[in-house]
Amino acid sequence: MTPRPSLKSKIIDRGLDVAIIGSGYTGLCAALTLSRAGRSVTVFDAKDAGWGCSSRNGGQVSTSIKPQYSTLVAKYGVDIAVSIIKEGHNSLSWIKNFVSKEKIDCSFAVPGRFYAAHSGKQFDILVNQIENQPAELTVEAEVVPRGEQKNELGSDVYHGGVVLRSHASLDPARYHQGILTLAIEAGVSIISNSRVADLKRSAGKFELTTTEGDFVAREVIIATNGYTGKLTPWLRRRVIPIGSYMIATEPINPDLMNELMPKKRVVSDTRKVVYYYRPSPDGTRIIFGGRVTSGDSNLHKSGSLLRKELIRIFPQLSNIKISHSWMGFVAYTFDELPHIGNNDGLHYAMGYCGSGVGMASYLGTRLGESLLTSGADIMGLEKIGFKTRPFYNGNPWFLPASVAYYRWLDNMR
Ligand SMILES: Cc1cc2nc3c(=O)[nH]c(=O)nc-3n(C[C@H](O)[C@H](O)[C@H](O)COP(=O)(O)OP(=O)(O)OC[C@H]3O[C@@H](n4cnc5c(N)ncnc54)[C@H](O)[C@@H]3O)c2cc1C
Repeated sequence: MTPRPSLKSKIIDRGLDVAIIGSGYTGLCAALTLSRAGRSVTVFDAKDAGWGCSSRNGGQVSTSIKPQYSTLVAKYGVDIAVSIIKEGHNSLSWIKNFVSKEKIDCSFAVPGRFYAAHSGKQFDILVNQIENQPAELTVEAEVVPRGEQKNELGSDVYHGGVVLRSHASLDPARYHQGILTLAIEAGVSIISNSRVADLKRSAGKFELTTTEGDFVAREVIIATNGYTGKLTPWLRRRVIPIGSYMIATEPINPDLMNELMPKKRVVSDTRKVVYYYRPSPDGTRIIFGGRVTSGDSNLHKSGSLLRKELIRIFPQLSNIKISHSWMGFVAYTFDELPHIGNNDGLHYAMGYCGSGVGMASYLGTRLGESLLTSGADIMGLEKIGFKTRPFYNGNPWFLPASVAYYRWLDNMR
């Protein structure tokens, strides 16, 4: 994780229009929108500003919606399915416009994604999906058979794949810093190292007890994603915190780097327990991630497991050293979709299932807008309800078994 600024805003006002809990992309984008519209907004974070996933992710920007169109149609019908997939497309085009309009210096690029098939069967499925895209949801994509794979990747392990041309990459911590600067310029107060420990409703307002004392707010936004805790038990029962692990290699010889990743694309594979990687923003290293352990946060162990997987894909790196190893908690949901809405007066956006760079920024902004306009557009994601499972209280005791099961399934698929 990139070191984050520790911000202690001078507390001007303890009576707020909006209090936001969580200072990642979701919280800051909501704050920026609301503050620019004249609301008094304070963002609280239990740690330094941006300490959560938003400064330690892989910086791959996708359309973020995991379930296939056919799965969504079977569950919700065509209209909602189309609307949900379109929200994914919207999030990607939104972040492209946002970075350019706000001139955020974060190495934003659109190299495209090589989506690699980990088996012959998955390659056939990918080809079928690309050739039969629903008319109004078509994305620019190109099939890469195994024989042409070397043009994309210096690896023999995959069975071909597809290139998704619109997928992007950025430097996540510099992107976060850019939004943080914009929010502060717009008048948002950011109070870091200030955990919100209690939240009560009284006389149509919310009373917040924090490390920096008590505040009163007319509205509250919960933007805690994979770090959602006991403060909001209803939400905690709906998100599954899962550790996502990453490593960075030491600088790689430029000729070898060109052989391994000639087109500098972001890469992910068709596994359920996915591996994802890309060149570092300066193009000198590979940043490689995956869910190599289910709860263990020993970074030496996860680093060494990731390195093993990296070398399985690129045997050319058998002598490579790892310079950094880190992890963070993403929020999965039981339907593998992000959620935005309001429960009992608390507004929330969360559950990005490991793909939140574009979606968290976009839904944070939409959440901010929804507090400003009573007739805001209701899109598919707001219509589907946010479900939990019986007996789940926020402690994902079943994760080791689930990850082992999905790993086994990946070997069968
Ligand atoms: C290793 C890793 C790699 C990833 N790679 C990618 C990728 O390549 N592409 C992609 O799209 N997504 C990726 N993600 C996911 C993405 O980073 C997240 O979806 C996104 O950053 C979520 O943003 P957020 O603002 O909702 O939450 P976060 O940035 O996690 O912020 C939540 C904040 O809430 C704060 N908080 C919690 N409780 C309280 C409280 N009671 N009081 C005050 N503050 C509180 C926490 O301190 C935290 O800072 C990755 C995540 C990880 C961990």
